[in-house]
Amino acid sequence: MPNKEDIIKTLKEKGHRCTNQREAILDVLINNKSHFISAEDIYIKTKKIYPKTNFSTVYRTLELLDRLEIIHSTTTDGKKTIYEIICKDSHHHHIICKNCGKTKVVDFCPYTNIKENLAKEGFKLTDHKFELYGYCENCNDDD
Ligand SMILES: [Zn+2]
Ligand SMILES: [Zn+2]
Ligand SMILES: [Zn+2]
Repeated sequence: MPNKEDIIKTLKEKGHRCTNQREAILDVLINNKSHFISAEDIYIKTKKIYPKTNFSTVYRTLELLDRLEIIHSTTTDGKKTIYEIICKDSHHHHIICKNCGKTKVVDFCPYTNIKENLAKEGFKLTDHKFELYGYCENCNDDD
């Protein structure tokens, strides 16, 4: 899990400025680690730290952080994009709570065999997405 200084260093190395607004967005992402949250929620929380925040900057910053592999993005119900600061350096997947966005790392990768089989056929698999959805212990009201 990267710390803020490391992230700011990465941004600068790639030629991006770290404005107060961007720093506030990073604070929000770090404060919400282990949770996937939407751009709207990030905007509302960032505004509390930095009142001059505007939504399109939040959105563009999230796209940039996603491209730089500082955050993960995925969708709930194929609609809303949600974001999480990358929690682990090595390859991993997530189980995500559909209600509150809480996430846990799933170390198992279902594509390992597929990748090997495809390689035998001369096909190189480079990217995949795999997320599991459900309810966390707080949101599961079965019992
Ligand atoms: Zn993660
Ligand atoms: Zn939950
Ligand atoms: Zn995988």
